[in-house]
Amino acid sequence: MTTMPLPASDWPTLEPGWVWLCGAGPGDPGLLTLHALNALRQADVVIYDALVQEAILDWAPQAEHIYAGKRGGKPSAKQRDISLRLVDLARSGKRVLRLKGGDPFVFGRGGEEAQTLVQHGVPIRIIPGISAGIGGLAYAGIPVTHRDVNQSVTFVTGHDQSGNTPSSLDWHGIARGSQVIVIYMGMKHAAQISAQLIAAGRSASEPVAVVTTATTADQQVMETTLAQLDADIKASNFEPPAIICIGQAVRMRDVLDWQAQAAGIPPVNLDPLDRGRPAESA
Ligand code: SAH
Repeated sequence: MTTMPLPASDWPTLEPGWVWLCGAGPGDPGLLTLHALNALRQADVVIYDALVQEAILDWAPQAEHIYAGKRGGKPSAKQRDISLRLVDLARSGKRVLRLKGGDPFVFGRGGEEAQTLVQHGVPIRIIPGISAGIGGLAYAGIPVTHRDVNQSVTFVTGHDQSGNTPSSLDWHGIARGSQVIVIYMGMKHAAQISAQLIAAGRSASEPVAVVTTATTADQQVMETTLAQLDADIKASNFEPPAIICIGQAVRMRDVLDWQAQAAGIPPVNLDPLDRGRPAESA
C-alpha cells in the first residue's frame, strides 16, 4: 500500500492519553477530512461505529480496531460503556481515535461522549465530518439549500432516547416554519412523521426522497410523496441507514442527479420548478 503524504501544513499530533472524536463522513472514504486522515495515521486504537466503512480502517493499519456499533433504539447504557472505555484507553496512555459516521456532533451522541471524557479529565479534540443529511443528499443530487427553494433547513431525528418519535418536537412549528425537512433515523416512524406533518398543514403530495447508504456503492434513492412515504418504504427493500428529505428541494434531482448523468442518463427536466429563466438570472 502506498501512503499518500499529507499536504504541507501544521498537522496536529495525536498525543498519548488524548481522544480525538472524529467524523468519518457519510460513507465514501474520499469524504473524510484531512484532519481525519492525519488522525488515522497516528492512532494506537480506533473505536468505530457501524456506519463507518471498513475501507476507512485500512488507512490505520498500525492501530487496533475496536467495533462499538449499536443500532438505534437500544438502551443508552451501552453508550456510557463506550464512553468509559474511551476514558480507560486514554488513561492507559493510548492515542485514541473515536471515529463516528457523518459528523460527530450531529445526532451521533458525540456531544455526550465528549462531555463524559471532559468530566473524566481526558483531553479531547473534535474533528467535524460531512453529515449524511448534507453530503448524502448531495450525492443524490439534492441541494440542501437552493435560492429558488428554501432559506432554511431543519434537521430532525426520527426517534428519541426511548426509541419513539420525539414527543418534544413541535411538528406544527416544523411543518409551518421549515421549507425543507431532513430526517435522520426516520424509517421506523415514517408513517407517524408524515401523518403529523400532513395534519399540521403540509401537502400530502409534497415531494419526498429517501436515500439509503448514501455515498457508498450501495446508495439507493427513492422519490415519493408525503402521503405515500410509509407505504413506499414498506414496499421497497430500503433499510437504514437512510435520510429522508421532505420539500421542493427533492425536485431539483430532475436536473442535478449527477450520478445518473455520469452513467449516461440525461436530466429529466432542466427547470424543475418552472422558473422559465436561467438558474442564475438574479
Ligand atoms: N452523525 C451522523 C448521524 C448519526 S445518526 C451524521 O452526521 O451523518 C444515524 C443516522 O444517520 C442514520 O439512521 C441515518 O438516518 C443517517 N445516516 C448516516 N449515514 C448515512 C448514509 N450513508 N446514508 C443515509 N443515511 C445515513
